[in-house]
Amino acid sequence: MSKTIKKIGVMTSGGDSPGMNAAIRSVVRACVYHDIECYGIYRGYEGMIEGDFILLNARSVKGIINKGGTILKSARSKEFRTHEGRKKAHEQLTKAGIDALVVIGGDGSFTGAMIFSDEFDYHVIGIPGTIDNDIFGTTHTLGFDTACNTVVDVIDKIRDTASSHNRLFFVEVMGRDAGHIALNVGVGAGAEEILIPEEDLGLDRLLESLRRSKQSGKSSSIVIVAEGDKIGKSVFELKDYVEAHMTEYEVRVSVLGHMQRGGSPSCFDRVLASRMGVKAVESLLEGKNKYMVGLIKDQMSLTPLEKAIKGQSKIDLELLRVSDILTI
Ligand code: ATP
Repeated sequence: MSKTIKKIGVMTSGGDSPGMNAAIRSVVRACVYHDIECYGIYRGYEGMIEGDFILLNARSVKGIINKGGTILKSARSKEFRTHEGRKKAHEQLTKAGIDALVVIGGDGSFTGAMIFSDEFDYHVIGIPGTIDNDIFGTTHTLGFDTACNTVVDVIDKIRDTASSHNRLFFVEVMGRDAGHIALNVGVGAGAEEILIPEEDLGLDRLLESLRRSKQSGKSSSIVIVAEGDKIGKSVFELKDYVEAHMTEYEVRVSVLGHMQRGGSPSCFDRVLASRMGVKAVESLLEGKNKYMVGLIKDQMSLTPLEKAIKGQSKIDLELLRVSDILTI
């Protein structure tokens, strides 16, 4: 392994997700293992511009593998979108002697990292941290598994009250552009219908499906709606529509919101974060630049950042088919 890199910076940027702390811990400890200094950069690109760095050692990251959120905090920085802002950030990194970066975040953070790398010939590796699972080059982003587990738990509870009152619930989950959470939790919690941005179910089929559900003697119905579902109606409009056309239903709405981002990471996310952190550090030490670490066929892999940003993470068609069969 090349030893030209002596100090690595690690940061979390964009929306937080469970597993970010486990990834920070892994990056720090992999650095220590390889005799590299590791600096934590607070508040993403915002802190980078201000030089808000902290030297971390193996003990600094004790007791965080099980914690949600990010100890380094996250932020969105307007200034980093300008060349001037990025120049300031580069000056701060140079002043601290930081040679390379591990950026944990989503596609926006990766875009910033790529531009920065091109402008200043600076080495960067990305770790995909977002609950939406909408990044090309990995079957799982950090936090997706935890978010699905959190949502399934909540739907199980909603189901209890729904079946006690013979109610229909529309449950809105996160996913403006991608239906990964909705599809997975819909199958995992046995929802009657799943509305996702990738597929236009249509209002007629929704009504038909709910009627069939009622006729088959079901005591409750749960419809999972991704924020950006293709029908294009909000959960509240869907409620009104169904109540207007199916008076036999008493409809309720539950919007899960930010609680989906929180909580202790699942074992899967902790292991994934641990693997990704080690891979990111070792890739930098091998001289790799502008790649994202991902999980493909259960192996750690590298995808060029550009591809990760521009590529589309497609919905699992097999799961969609399973869902269609099981929601009959
Ligand atoms: P999430 O998926 O949770 O939204 P994200 O990483 O996509 O995470 P963004 O807010 O899109 O979150 O991006 C995080 C930060 O990355 C921005 O606040 C900005 O500082 C930087 N960034 C995003 N796009 C660019 C860009 N085109 N040029 C420079 N910096 C950028």
